[in-house]
Amino acid sequence: MNDKKIATIAVRAGINSDEHHGAVIPAIHLSSTYALKGFNEKRQFDYSRTGNPTRATFAQAIAELEQGSVGIVTCTGMASVHLICQLLSTDDTVVIPHDCYGGSYRLFTHLAKRGQFNLIVVDQNDEQALHEALLQKPKLVLLESPSNPLLRLVDIEKITKACHQVGALVAVDNTFLSPALQQPLLLGADIVFHSTTKYINGHSDVVGGVLVTKDKALGEELAWWANCIGITGSPFDSYLALRGLKTLPIRMRQHQENANAVAQFLKAHEAVKAVYYPGFSDHPGHEIAKRQQYDFGAMMSFEVQGGEEAVKKLFANLTLFTLAQSLGGVESLISHPSTMTHAGMELAAQLEAGITQSLVRISVGIEDSDDIIEDLAAGLAASQL
Ligand SMILES: *Cc1c(COP(=O)(O)O)cnc(C)c1O
Repeated sequence: MNDKKIATIAVRAGINSDEHHGAVIPAIHLSSTYALKGFNEKRQFDYSRTGNPTRATFAQAIAELEQGSVGIVTCTGMASVHLICQLLSTDDTVVIPHDCYGGSYRLFTHLAKRGQFNLIVVDQNDEQALHEALLQKPKLVLLESPSNPLLRLVDIEKITKACHQVGALVAVDNTFLSPALQQPLLLGADIVFHSTTKYINGHSDVVGGVLVTKDKALGEELAWWANCIGITGSPFDSYLALRGLKTLPIRMRQHQENANAVAQFLKAHEAVKAVYYPGFSDHPGHEIAKRQQYDFGAMMSFEVQGGEEAVKKLFANLTLFTLAQSLGGVESLISHPSTMTHAGMELAAQLEAGITQSLVRISVGIEDSDDIIEDLAAGLAASQL
């Protein structure tokens, strides 16, 4: 445990750890293998799939930021999701949210189809449906709050309590907020994971993942599997993500300030039918957000008047926003969930989850908010012509 504040842990990660040269910033260790001191005299590291100093520094930093005991760095966010599946046997049941990240939905549904476990997909805000799912005594319940792309929230503490009563482990995807804005382990969860591709690295130049457990033994079991199946993250990516991490809290503050301004602008715009942003007091998850998050985040989605045609015109008339999937980088991104991030989900399942053709998602960057809003204003005006 590290009792320092989040910004301090993020900035100080690995600093002053070089005993040989006194390098302030920890060196990147690219070596794939490490010499033994002598016959059967192992050092801390022997082979970089199993352990690597750069990766270990990054893993330790995230574990401290999430207030957990073991951090595991994986080569992608999906590898972290898949790693959790190693805990499951064929007769185990898993519960996932109906509106989880498209890639997670695809992974769980396809593994279940092959008989690797039983799967229940449920709207976790539907208390009756969740209750019935928990009666099946699942081994694992996956949570994602806020969800993608509609920013729905679930009460992590309340659901975790119900899950623990039936003996289920709870794993929370915290990608949308980062530990700077939400710490699920402190709300009772057993596992928290991230796509570090997003806010944690924050500069859109790494694809990676990380998973943190509250319990040491569970973390060691998962670390064993990560080495066994060979999905640990590369030293170079760990180095970049550690560098990105240092500015996470201050980046999140600016993302947040800009997101608030953008959300207000969108809400007042006549070409916008609805804005999904937990910062609004009429958002169904607003009260939960105030309780379990430190702020509302910088992701939002909205419905454009005029359907898919209007969305196409909006995209064609933006000059600052980049039309790309992913999120959480310093640059503002815009995307169309139905044809992009959630294309792996069948159309019927998309509609079930509330993903329409006129839905647009934005990741608000840290450019000047006046410029971000001016760009959206031009795009939205053109969308209605
Ligand atoms: C991107 C993302 C993932 C998957 O991470 P990759 O790094 O793309 O493999 C998982 N969950 C959420 C919420 C994401 O946004």
